[in-house]
Amino acid sequence: MTKHIFITGGVVSSLGKGLTAASIGLLLERRGVRIRMQKLDPYLNVDPGTMNPYQHGEVYVLDDGTETDLDLGHYERFCNAPMTRACNFTTGRIYQEILRKERAGEYLGQTVQVIPHVTDEIKRSIDQLIAPDVDVIITEIGGTVGDIESLPFLEAIRQYRLDKGPDCALYIHLTLLPYLRATGELKTKPTQQSVGKLREIGIQPDILICRCEVEPTEDMRRKISLFCNVPKDGVLVEKDVDHTIYEVPLVLRDQDLDGTICRRLGFPDTKADLSDWEKLVENICHPQHEVEIAIAGKYIGLHDAYKSIYESLAHAGVRNRTLVKFRKIESEQIEDEGAERLLAGVHGILVPGGFGKRGVEGKIAAARFAREHKIPYFGLCFGMQIAVIETARNLCGLKGANSAEVDPQTPHPVISLLDEQKKKVDLGGTMRLGSQPCALKPGRALEAYGTPLIRERHRHRYEFNPAYKAQLEAAGLVVTGEHESLHLAEIIERRDHPWFVAVQYHPEFKSKPTAAHPLFDQFIAAALRHGQEHGGQAASHAAAR
Ligand code: GLN
Repeated sequence: MTKHIFITGGVVSSLGKGLTAASIGLLLERRGVRIRMQKLDPYLNVDPGTMNPYQHGEVYVLDDGTETDLDLGHYERFCNAPMTRACNFTTGRIYQEILRKERAGEYLGQTVQVIPHVTDEIKRSIDQLIAPDVDVIITEIGGTVGDIESLPFLEAIRQYRLDKGPDCALYIHLTLLPYLRATGELKTKPTQQSVGKLREIGIQPDILICRCEVEPTEDMRRKISLFCNVPKDGVLVEKDVDHTIYEVPLVLRDQDLDGTICRRLGFPDTKADLSDWEKLVENICHPQHEVEIAIAGKYIGLHDAYKSIYESLAHAGVRNRTLVKFRKIESEQIEDEGAERLLAGVHGILVPGGFGKRGVEGKIAAARFAREHKIPYFGLCFGMQIAVIETARNLCGLKGANSAEVDPQTPHPVISLLDEQKKKVDLGGTMRLGSQPCALKPGRALEAYGTPLIRERHRHRYEFNPAYKAQLEAAGLVVTGEHESLHLAEIIERRDHPWFVAVQYHPEFKSKPTAAHPLFDQFIAAALRHGQEHGGQAASHAAAR
């Protein structure tokens, strides 16, 4: 029988529920428990695909093309469980299905209501992951206990254990113990109150994980246990980690969270082998080199907007025993202050994915700066299209060359829409999405991947316009990767440059802390070489240490 772990959050948002859920997934997998991960998001968008990254952070894309919440990125980086469309549901998606059924007459004359119809649909979405080879489904409920919009989800998970029996599910609640600097103490009251809110709904948490800045005393743990009605071995502390988020699973393992979960759910009490993970943390804490990478994008103010990119750069850093420092640059600022002023001294330049007009000229200037100064360049999705526009304008003499997305009237649409995209009316879920096969020709990418056929995840509407391929290649920008059957350009490189690779897809969705993505790995290796050859501030700091 498949069992369930439901993870809720209380007191404040942004407690790191996704990270905690992913850590639990990792610990269980390392004990041989076969898991699935799932996130239920209370907002009304059908998926986050049309949301502004400043609202929601990055849109994380799965192999099957589902556009999901960024927490699924944590799940995939930490765990090996396959992720599909059944791993992320929003209120919007739940209601979409209910309204479809209502129009189809499937409710047979009933009044359609939050209870039981919405809660039943939520329970069905959890059930979608049940399978004979799944021991436990870890379901994270987005939002904070006490929010109006998360109520139906909490009600559904309450009913779930009632329906399936007391041993089928564990409730884990993540809370905060705020630290009052003035009095130098942690406070437990908000945790008590948030557990009280859960109990009002009828959910008694089995395990409490308390986020805090400083270690609580034994006495305090006893008090939390008593007031929240949670046995003492179920009160855990997740103190802020010193160096890296990848310490979180180790912190929880040290308090035997995985043991407690396995005992409660009736799984054999084996040991989790985390030696590679310990080595990972050790390597992160003791880098031998340092590089500085410029990220020239549009949503620089919010780390979550490029979450997977920063993580992938860090993974590549671990592989190269290198601390990767980020120089985050608003691309619009490059338009005002010039590339030289903002980019001088970096060891690599990365232009991330993006949409729309704002900041495009700054990104083009960044690509030009990388090309002309022979600084390693890595373009991701829009960052690839940007490199094409730059070469078209500055090396092919195609004045006004642009992407049709940015300038629909451009005389040279070097990036344009395929006919099938022109027919699409809706914005949600209509891009080229998900894993696609790409055949590689000799070049940096083939060197990095070491195999001629790869699969990578896409999320874009516009494409490299093949009408300009000959001209661009004559100018040194060669296509080294093409869609296996559709022959769309997926990778471009410069042969007259130490490392200039840009891809139409999103490699950042396939990097893991213990298995850096080959292109990120090679980009950081190239940045390191650049630093060694040209110096630069960050590298010499490392040398002096
Ligand atoms: N805006 C571009 C397109 O739609 C690039 C998308 C992206 O970077 N994800 O093709």
